[in-house]
Amino acid sequence: MLAPAYEAAGESGAHPRLFDLCLAGAAIWPEMTRRLETESGLSIDYRRQPTLAVAGDISQLHHLERIAGGCRQRGLEFEPLDARAAHALEPALQPTLAGALLLPSDVQVDNRRTLAALVRALSRRGIALRTGQDIRDVETGPAGVRLPDGQMADVLVDATGWRAAGMTPVKGVAVALAPGPDLPGRVVRFGQHYLVPKRDRVVLGATVRPGESDSDVSGPAVISLIDSAERICPGMAATQIIERWAGVRPRTPDLAPLIGWQGTRRYLAGGHYRNGVLLAPLTGEIVAGHILEGERDQLAADFDPGRRGVIPA
Ligand SMILES: Cc1cc2nc3c(=O)[nH]c(=O)nc-3n(C[C@H](O)[C@H](O)[C@H](O)COP(=O)(O)OP(=O)(O)OC[C@H]3O[C@@H](n4cnc5c(N)ncnc54)[C@H](O)[C@@H]3O)c2cc1C
Repeated sequence: MLAPAYEAAGESGAHPRLFDLCLAGAAIWPEMTRRLETESGLSIDYRRQPTLAVAGDISQLHHLERIAGGCRQRGLEFEPLDARAAHALEPALQPTLAGALLLPSDVQVDNRRTLAALVRALSRRGIALRTGQDIRDVETGPAGVRLPDGQMADVLVDATGWRAAGMTPVKGVAVALAPGPDLPGRVVRFGQHYLVPKRDRVVLGATVRPGESDSDVSGPAVISLIDSAERICPGMAATQIIERWAGVRPRTPDLAPLIGWQGTRRYLAGGHYRNGVLLAPLTGEIVAGHILEGERDQLAADFDPGRRGVIPA
């Protein structure tokens, strides 16, 4: 999901400019899609259909009200819907919801297709990707960066996710369901969970487990996801799970990324928490501009790792 409003408009405790960063990140995706698809020859399935955020109970309704308030403050379009209108839009949802919001700012792209297209586009440009080198074995000094295989580089960009300095790991388990008529045809969000239809699967995610970083996907996590989705989408019971997986989100104290120098030749780009896909193109632009041209704008500078309280001294 590319979800600036749902993830950042009403997020308490977040960096005061996270919503601005997420909106700037979302704005790049149409052009990013055009370039990636042209350069790779592959579709990344970017879809502009607005997300439907629904509330099954009062606490989810309050969450939607906070999101609507954040959107209103910045003049961002949204449309409140009652249960009947939400059900008319997505008949797979139960008809007695507490309320809903249609969010045109929140769209989606297929993350797996995007990665495949990136790899293909880089290879067509003659850029080699090498994996398997541990950056803990990298030496950085005034003369440059010595990689474990002995080669030299100018700069090390640390993008090691939750393993980088200052991050809390937050495990998330998700499943993929076989597509079917009993599931929604657009992104539907409810509390921390969501149903996201892709071309070949419908993603149901995700649990949120701070402090956990293992890859276990057995039992209770999957059951809790299915239970929560069934309350919103009764036809879930008839659907088949075709895949399950776990990932780890890198979280910082203000839920916002850390992008900037961390030494002479060491650069940090991490802490994107729930918005790593949304913010990937913008982060790339910030990192490249800052390292190659020595420039970044004020919005990017506001996410420097040196800001107060994000990395323990
Ligand atoms: C279930 C789930 C659903 C999500 N859904 C969305 C979504 O819909 N939209 C969205 O925008 N974001 C989403 N996210 C968040 C997004 O996945 C993360 O923000 C993003 O993956 C963070 O990217 P990263 O590159 O910083 O870290 P990672 O994706 O964790 O990548 C870090 C990489 O560094 C490598 N590495 C680690 N240590 C070393 C080392 N010492 N040396 C060399 N390499 C190392 C790892 O192997 C890994 O390849 C989701 C996350 C989860 C878990």
